[in-house]
Amino acid sequence: MNRRPRGQNPQRRQRKECVAVYSMNPLTIHFLGSGDAFGSGGRFQTCICVTTFRERFLLDCGASSLIAMRRDRIDPLSIDTILLTHLHGDHFGGLPFFILDAQLISKRSAPLTIAGPIGTQARVINALEIFFPGSSSIQKKFALEFIEIPERQMTTIGNLRVTGFPVVHASGATPYALRVECEGKVLAYSGDTEWTDALLEAANGADLFICEANYFEKKIKFHLDYQTVLEQRAALGCRRLVITHMNAELLARLPEIEIEYAEDGKQIVL
Ligand SMILES: [Zn+2]
Ligand SMILES: [Zn+2]
Repeated sequence: MNRRPRGQNPQRRQRKECVAVYSMNPLTIHFLGSGDAFGSGGRFQTCICVTTFRERFLLDCGASSLIAMRRDRIDPLSIDTILLTHLHGDHFGGLPFFILDAQLISKRSAPLTIAGPIGTQARVINALEIFFPGSSSIQKKFALEFIEIPERQMTTIGNLRVTGFPVVHASGATPYALRVECEGKVLAYSGDTEWTDALLEAANGADLFICEANYFEKKIKFHLDYQTVLEQRAALGCRRLVITHMNAELLARLPEIEIEYAEDGKQIVL
């Protein structure tokens, strides 16, 4: 029998690569995509990579995420879990590409967990079938697990404790602001929403709250504006606040704003 020499097992090599990327800090937050749905400012759609002592996960995976990962040299194999705030293309539309890459290009063997609102599994499979017919039923060489997070119930996902607070944003399934506790830190993210007091619950005491601010001051249904976030800054009760998902009008006025903002490639260490 032709035995494989020691150290040549591709699965073992893959696990080794994953271990090598873990952070020396409790949390390292890397904005891969900080844009809105429409490519404003040439920014990629929402995708935030979080690396901890023990794992790496994504917060949302917009349609452009695999491109952003390649640009910033984040190996898709290093991602253990993908958490979704809501089921809009600029927040989960990267999954068909991510899953197909895992099967065909990256040749993933480690399990992948995708967690999001109730209805996530069906929507991801539908998206796979629309983009690449037949792809959802191909035998995979890795375990793909879906976890659908119930509202306001802390759900344990690996080393993460995740709570979804329902927000106000029509997306075919209940959209969440997510609060993630891990390694003694709390990271919260609004997803997309107009103002709702649920954000106060999600952000309260968080080490970092990432909040969408789509417009500068215009009030519209289902999205936030910078002025509203500024007015609520103290009430949010978070240690650090960063806005993201900015449209072209807000991007043009960045020199005026008083809140820290995300940029593609920006990293924050907690
Ligand atoms: Zn949305
Ligand atoms: Zn969005």
